[in-house]
Amino acid sequence: MVCPWSIIKVVKTLKGIPASPGIAIGKVLLYNESPTAIPRFHLSEEDVKSEVERLKQAVERAAGDIQLIKESLDKDAKDQHALLEAHTLMLYDPCFNEMAHERIGKELKNVEWVLQETVNSLVEQLEATQDSYLKERSSDILDSSRRIIDHLLNRKRISLGKVEEEVVLVTHNILATEMLQLDRRKIRAVIMDVGGKTSHTAILARSFGIPAIVGLKNVTEQVVTGKTIAVDGGEGIVIVDPDDDTLENYRHKRTLFEKKESQLYNITDLPAETTDGKLIRLKANIEFPAETDQVLNINAEGVGLFRSEFLFMNHNETADEESQYSSYREVLETMGDRPVTIRTLDVGGDKLISEIESQHEANPLLGWRAIRFCLEKTQIFRTQIRALLRASQHGRLQIMFPMISGIEEFEEALALVDEVREELLGEGVPVKGDIPIGLMIEVPSAAMTSDILSEKADFLSIGTNDLIQYSIAIDRGNEKVAHMYQPLHPGLIRMVHMIVQNAHRHGIPVSLCGEMGGEPLYTPILLGLGLDEISMSAYSLPEIKKIIRSVSIAETEELLGAILEMRSYREINDYTRLWMEKRFGNSGQ
Ligand code: PEP
Ligand code: MG
Repeated sequence: MVCPWSIIKVVKTLKGIPASPGIAIGKVLLYNESPTAIPRFHLSEEDVKSEVERLKQAVERAAGDIQLIKESLDKDAKDQHALLEAHTLMLYDPCFNEMAHERIGKELKNVEWVLQETVNSLVEQLEATQDSYLKERSSDILDSSRRIIDHLLNRKRISLGKVEEEVVLVTHNILATEMLQLDRRKIRAVIMDVGGKTSHTAILARSFGIPAIVGLKNVTEQVVTGKTIAVDGGEGIVIVDPDDDTLENYRHKRTLFEKKESQLYNITDLPAETTDGKLIRLKANIEFPAETDQVLNINAEGVGLFRSEFLFMNHNETADEESQYSSYREVLETMGDRPVTIRTLDVGGDKLISEIESQHEANPLLGWRAIRFCLEKTQIFRTQIRALLRASQHGRLQIMFPMISGIEEFEEALALVDEVREELLGEGVPVKGDIPIGLMIEVPSAAMTSDILSEKADFLSIGTNDLIQYSIAIDRGNEKVAHMYQPLHPGLIRMVHMIVQNAHRHGIPVSLCGEMGGEPLYTPILLGLGLDEISMSAYSLPEIKKIIRSVSIAETEELLGAILEMRSYREINDYTRLWMEKRFGNSGQ
């Protein structure tokens, strides 16, 4: 008799953070070296010199590797070149190298050990900050140092550029530079022990269209190379060694996902028009100029939010006028006659540049940030405005100021733009005459005075990420209060309603550019609220367009009418989900 237990196969399911959507099935390719495999031994005084020399040579070789990757990349892949450039700079960082040299001499330990220790303590410091940007820099440091250590130990890595069969890459972490080399035809998904949604790996996986799951904690200990694995990147689920039924189920899911994707792309050329004929402008949010290719691919009507601060963060110093000018010009020229809304520097809070880093404010989110910083650091602000106004000749520029809290700030910023315009014209530099200038509504006081602000602005754009944070009084990056981050809070819905009404009364359009705009569940409510434009990540746009094309303004207004009577976000949430399910089934959400 066959014991029943022997025929039951245990299917192991792991849950991580969804980082890039899509379904993949493949054999595991475990790609990892144990971080403990670093040797540790004592040096004598006379060995120190040769040990320092070994470090120098390993740095040179690591820089050579990066150069080779750069040469293999497409010239237009500007972000990827910039990333590699940053890693090369990090390899030669004098502060980091001096620290390692000093420790070798003082502690008389071998270089790979010292390097590992130095990196660990730097990474620990960065990881301890509340700042997601700094946290992400730790993966860049790990990336550069692992490359040096590989050379010191003569450690050869499997090449990820040429993989024989379809695999799912399973790794503790992956260097961002290695992500750039991935054989994208064969590597069907990437899953990792560590990482967050905004890590470089996640960002690159999304831009390559590869499903990815991060933060799986110890997936590398739960699989071996060659085992079959199924991945649902959208749900953050990994099935190790799936049985036949599960495999069949995942194949079916994959077909559905691919079908849905291609159907969504089928509507690329169709307008975002409701069934009763209202056209909604759908635009894309970008952080880097190279993202405009994807914006054009999905046929967005423009860029609704270019977060210009990423240019500054990428440079790790204040970006100069010329480099800003060429980035703005590039985006404007690529987008041609489609409008591009460039937001002026929105630093502070969770986005630091060197000028703010040293401030150590008790409440940075309520502190010296965005327009407050710019109106004080007028040299930085003027430089940005000069670059923007000069670039205005090359496309349809719109300028937008972040974190405006009241009319004084907006008027001050407008006056500064006028001054810079006069200055440029005085120098004989041409500036376009009709650049629309607007502001972001992200602070409750701006929402409450949106009637006054609308008298002076050419447009408003609602930044719900911050407006929710400031109106419900919860830090948007703090997981302890994440459950309170509720876009459907009646307080927020009422506020958006009021902003739209005020803007329309003054004859100006309103956009919404927070993450809420890319969530299908919220689309009918945003339509009912009367938004003229929604700007979101390029990948969300086709799905949002599909929803818009399936509903009428009349029915969304009816939905909104019902919602405005409700008392709690739970009630609104349940009601809206049901509403969506009736129209789109579960896949509508
Ligand atoms: C927002 O606050 O909604 C917004 C779009 O700006 P950011 O996410 O860059 O703060
Ligand atoms: Mg914001």
